[in-house]
Amino acid sequence: MKLSKKNPLIIILLGKSGSGKGTQADLLREKFGLDYIGSGDLLRARGKKKDFTGRKIAKILAEGKLIPTPAIFKLWSDATEKLKNKNSFKGLIMDGNPRKILEAYLIDETFGFYEWDKNVKALLVDISDKEAIWRLTKRRICKNCKEIIPFVGEFRKMKKCPKCGGELMPRSDDTIAAAKNRLAWFKKDVQPIVNYYRKTGRLIRINGEQSIEDVFKDVLKVLK
Ligand SMILES: [Zn+2]
Repeated sequence: MKLSKKNPLIIILLGKSGSGKGTQADLLREKFGLDYIGSGDLLRARGKKKDFTGRKIAKILAEGKLIPTPAIFKLWSDATEKLKNKNSFKGLIMDGNPRKILEAYLIDETFGFYEWDKNVKALLVDISDKEAIWRLTKRRICKNCKEIIPFVGEFRKMKKCPKCGGELMPRSDDTIAAAKNRLAWFKKDVQPIVNYYRKTGRLIRINGEQSIEDVFKDVLKVLK
């Protein structure tokens, strides 16, 4: 796969909470030198500014609610614009968007505008509801840097944070009820997005119930 500014690879990551798609994003970035736009990062950064929008975003994040499309879309398209001007650009991984079908349409129009619509793959890291609940209620967080440690593969046995060496603890909001809530949201809002990418011939489904290495092997296979 020869990637360049003129022929970039655009990967839209989809998956239930707990699917391990963030880990796959890291591996893909490393392998292909892709840039990354994660709505979580964008929102946390914007939420630190002490203006109206910053305060409002921080409040919605703290409540664990969904950020309205106009607020996230502005951040997302500013980040996209920046990458369009980057000479070494090879491609992009999008994580955390789209969250509803409206955003999938907006993202398509944006890619069309930037002429990035030739090589778009929607990568679904698929796990069952049962597996998602299991992983979501068992994962841990670093006390120090707040990195979330997924309950999968070698991370299950890890005693210290792989990023900073900090102590790991369960997350108090990782209850079964919260996990079920996330799954209900996935079914209602994200499933139509998955169907949309399938209908337009861009969906790649990967079995996420394997080791991190095997999931990544499958990802590489289908990207070739
Ligand atoms: Zn840490």
